[in-house]
Amino acid sequence: MTMPDKKTAIIIGAGPAGLTAAYELLNKTDIKPIIYEMTEDIGGISKTINYKGNRIDIGGHRFFSKSNRVMHRWQNMLPSQMLTRTRLSRIFFLRKLFDYPVSLNLNTFSNLGFMRIIKICLSYIKTRFSPIKDEVSLEDFFINRFGKELYLTFFKDYTEKVWGIPCNKIGPEWGVQRIKGLSISKVLLHAVKKQKNTETSLIGQFLYPKLGPGQMWEQVARIIKEKGGKIYLKHKVIGLKHHDDNKIVEAVVKEKTTNELITKTADYFFSTMPVKELIQSLGDGVPQEVQQVAQGLIYRDFITVGLLLRKLKIKNKTGIKTINNIIPDNWIYIQERDVKLGRIQIFNNWSPYMVKDKNTVWIGLEYFCNEGDELWNKDDESFAKFAIDELAKIDIIEKEDVLDSIVIRMPKTYPAYFGTYDKFYIIRDFTDKFENLFLIGRNGMHRYNNQDHSMLTAMTAVENIINNIKSKHNIWAVNTEDEYHEDK
Ligand SMILES: Cc1cc2nc3c(=O)[nH]c(=O)nc-3n(C[C@H](O)[C@H](O)[C@H](O)COP(=O)(O)OP(=O)(O)OC[C@H]3O[C@@H](n4cnc5c(N)ncnc54)[C@H](O)[C@@H]3O)c2cc1C
Repeated sequence: MTMPDKKTAIIIGAGPAGLTAAYELLNKTDIKPIIYEMTEDIGGISKTINYKGNRIDIGGHRFFSKSNRVMHRWQNMLPSQMLTRTRLSRIFFLRKLFDYPVSLNLNTFSNLGFMRIIKICLSYIKTRFSPIKDEVSLEDFFINRFGKELYLTFFKDYTEKVWGIPCNKIGPEWGVQRIKGLSISKVLLHAVKKQKNTETSLIGQFLYPKLGPGQMWEQVARIIKEKGGKIYLKHKVIGLKHHDDNKIVEAVVKEKTTNELITKTADYFFSTMPVKELIQSLGDGVPQEVQQVAQGLIYRDFITVGLLLRKLKIKNKTGIKTINNIIPDNWIYIQERDVKLGRIQIFNNWSPYMVKDKNTVWIGLEYFCNEGDELWNKDDESFAKFAIDELAKIDIIEKEDVLDSIVIRMPKTYPAYFGTYDKFYIIRDFTDKFENLFLIGRNGMHRYNNQDHSMLTAMTAVENIINNIKSKHNIWAVNTEDEYHEDK
């Protein structure tokens, strides 16, 4: 008697969500995972690039989660490799450093000046007495929590740099997810009590692998292969075929070097590819309305410039002891209006193991842009020069201290909560009908999910298969402590 073939699952993408799905399947089921990853790298947006011995993330990646399950997974995956870091991130504005979150201390008062402080207090009091009743935009969300003046000083320009459109054109959902329970009263309480705080924006400590987030995901990939899972790099899923309405039957995959097309059947399909592209890959059978919403989904893209420096011009005046007396921040928000630069990561402070020569300073400059716009299309050399000029202009470095640079572009880093996002439920209703298709992760669900949320969506999807739960509701419920409008 021949044994029936093992069931298989095709997983699109080798980022945290796809790798976690494969890991869970191997540990808890008999289903064999096959991952197709279109790039040459493991880790998706959470990868780490090794440039001549200096390692850089696509934006620094904190390992922090409210889920004990995720925290344990991380610690068990890389025992002895996880560093516990104390977060320090400040805001650079008026060529000065402010605490983040903004705290009402002497430094803030002297940096802002008496008149600005009075204006901030008065506008906050006004908001307390007459808040905006119907919060329809991110601008309303900020004003109701911080007052108009504080919003104009610290939130408006930075948020517009990130999203490329005015805050009054962005829905309030982004604030709900990103800033969650943060408010002036919590900021004050935090400043006074330094309490154990788990609001996403205030997290005081986090874990970080010695060699960056990529180390975590490369380790997971190693285990997947050891346990018999398959990972194919440079393989892009371009089509998903469905013979009837509620089952996907096969994937069409393009091998990137030879352009060879492969068709592969499977029992389950997990997608972490951008929802916009997933809907395209489903072909002509997709209802017009679903196609229209998918076409209207918007993404923000990202460029980071790794800069190797002899030293920084900006001095450490904090009293915190650091190697070579570099300023102690993990990252700095650049609020200055005369530069396009959004954030600086100081990788020496994430992990000394990220830097090849401890006498140098290794930083990442972050720019938010749209694929194909002026910034995106600059060639690497002129982009690096532009970034160095900006950093010198705001007095953070001297140009002659630059030793080396690398420019890295990453498309679709931020799924946006504008465009057709308010009709996203139409896509969800359609994709949820395919009982063997699971949308998981960040772009996979078009949601501002961090690594932990991406992992939890994968874990929940696998549990649904094990427990024969047909509804996808619990997957969509991850990372929604504040209820979503589409669920109402
Ligand atoms: C600047 C920045 C900072 C961040 N900081 C943090 C942080 O501090 N902490 C934290 O926990 N999270 C952070 N995140 C979020 C984190 O990066 C994501 O949550 C996580 O990487 C999402 O995992 P994922 O697997 O869902 O998606 P991704 O990481 O996007 O991986 C998806 C993978 O699918 C592949 N793919 C796409 N389409 C196809 C296709 N058609 N065929 C085959 N493969 C395909 C992609 O190449 C990619 O490798 C940050 C994100 C950004 C942009």
